[in-house]
Parts: sequence; structure tokens; C-alpha cells
Amino acid sequence: MATKEIKTKITTALRPISEHRIKIIRVIVQIISFGLLNGAIFGLGRVSVLLPIEFPTGAQFGTTWNAFEALQYAMTFWIFPYLAISIFALFGTIFGKTTCGWVCPFGLFQDIFRIIPIKKKKVSKPTNKNLSRIGIGIVIFVLLMSFIIGLTYMRSGAKSAFGTGKDMPFSTIDPASTLFASLYYYLRWGIQGTTLGAEMGDWRFIFFLRIIIFIVVLVLITLYPRAYCRWFCPTGALLGIFSRFSLLGIRLNKNRCLSGCNDCEQACPVQIPILTFDRDVTDKMCTNCGDCIDACKEGALKLTFRF
Ligand code: SF4
Ligand code: SF4
Ligand code: SF4
Repeated sequence: MATKEIKTKITTALRPISEHRIKIIRVIVQIISFGLLNGAIFGLGRVSVLLPIEFPTGAQFGTTWNAFEALQYAMTFWIFPYLAISIFALFGTIFGKTTCGWVCPFGLFQDIFRIIPIKKKKVSKPTNKNLSRIGIGIVIFVLLMSFIIGLTYMRSGAKSAFGTGKDMPFSTIDPASTLFASLYYYLRWGIQGTTLGAEMGDWRFIFFLRIIIFIVVLVLITLYPRAYCRWFCPTGALLGIFSRFSLLGIRLNKNRCLSGCNDCEQACPVQIPILTFDRDVTDKMCTNCGDCIDACKEGALKLTFRF
């Protein structure tokens, strides 16, 4: 067989890999991250690292701490959450929402749901933008709740009246917490047998609320890729405040974008209007996942530090 023919065959065989090279690397990173975050399975100990991702501190095999939980926890004890806020600001301004695209286990979980062969739906651009405001609304509500609990704690020295949500109000219904912590505990020890069930009188209500929210989220992420990330996640919403100014991000080179094919926008799981940006894609929903880069045949997009 002629050398040229062999080369052509190899190139054709490798095309699917080269066309999805960032996605392949990203999935590998997501899987390794998932393993490290659950490192206690392999004998790893817990490290003093706060991460802005949706992975509960209370996960059975967890090795890290959840920044949004830490933020709530500090506030309910009437402590200003300097550390958690600094983590969000630091990660957000340097890496944007890269942890969402590459590390967060609940992001990986949603990516797995993208594989389900059901036709994915899109919402209009204004609707997408409006729905994305819900996440920041949840942040405000949770912070307000934490503030009130903290105030009660300051005045009476107790906060047990707030039941299961007394330390971290959002974790009571957080779907990531349900998936990575509660379901495991429920299956292992039974609904009422868990600490969660034992310490509150309202366990039935909380249990069913958790499950209903979780099912609703499952339906949404099956139909709308990364729906929880773009519309509801408070961790993502907090990171998004800083990610608009992030150093690491997607840059568009309009001189190379000659075809205007729109493949990048079609590939974007969170429906970012990439082509409306002059150079840097600064949308708060961008997770730096790189799907748009893979999709662009002209090489007009790249993930880079934007100094
Ligand atoms: S937006 Fe929330 S759930 Fe989605 S990847 Fe980021 S931290 Fe995880
Ligand atoms: S703009 Fe690109 S990197 Fe950002 S979320 Fe969309 S596909 Fe991913
Ligand atoms: S995929 Fe590339 S060439 Fe096509 S519109 Fe997007 S940036 Fe332009």
C-alpha cells in the first residue's frame, strides 16, 4: 500500500479523535477529578481545600470542602465568610468557571445526561438569559436565610428551630447533595436511620422535597443540556459574578471566522451567543468547556489567558 494511502487512512481513522480532542481531554480530567474528590475510597484523607463546585462536604468518600456550604455554615454561626468569598473571587477571576466545565461532579453528571438519545431542546436567547438570573436569586435567598439563622444563634445561642437546614439551608434541597450524599445514606441506613432523619422531626417532608427537586432536575437536564448549571446552581451563579473578568477564557478571532457557519453556537451546551462578542467571550454562563473550539473548523476560537 502506498505511503500516501496509509497516511490518508490513519488521518481518516483519527479524525473523530482530533475533532473532539478537547472534549476527550476534558472527560479524562472530569473522571480523574471525580476519583480524587471521592479519594477516601482509595484511602486518601480529607484535605483542607475549599472548592467552588457542587460536591457536598458530607459525601461519604469526600476529600474536599464545598465552598458554598462553607459560606452558609460560617454565616449561620454569625461569622463573616471571608475564606469562602475569597475562594469564589480567586477561582472566578483567574479561571472563570473552568471548574464547572472540567472538575465539578454534578457538571459531569449533567454531561452524562446529554448522551441520552432524546432530542435536546433549546430556549430563546432572552429566555436563557432571564432564567440564568434564578441562580443569583437562590444565592440571595440562601444568604438571607443564613443571616437570619446566624442572628438567631447570636441572640439565643441556639438555632435548632431551623431543623435540618440550620447549618446549611441550601444543602437541605441541593440536588448534588441528594445525589452524592443523601441517596447513599438513605440506601445504606434507611431514610429515618440517617443522622439527617434522626435529628429532625420533619424528615418525611424534607425527604420528599429532596426527591421531587431531584427528579425535576433530572427531567430538565435530560431535555436541556446543563440546565441546572445555567439556570439554578448558586455555586455557578457566584462564580459567574467574577468570571466575566476572568483571565482564563474563550477568545474569538474574527479574522479567522470567515464562514460564519455558526457551528460554535450550535455546539455550545449552554447556548452562549458566541458570535455577538467582539473578542473575549465574557458570558457568565461559559464554563470554558471547549466544545465550541472543537466545533470550529477555522480555528477561530481558543481557550487562553486573556492578559
Ligand atoms: S454550575 Fe454548579 S453544578 Fe454546574 S458545574 Fe458549576 S458548580 Fe457544578
Ligand atoms: S462558549 Fe464555548 S467554552 Fe463557553 S460554554 Fe459555550 S461551548 Fe463551552
Ligand atoms: S464555528 Fe468558527 S468559523 Fe464558524 S461561526 Fe463559529 S467561530 Fe466562526
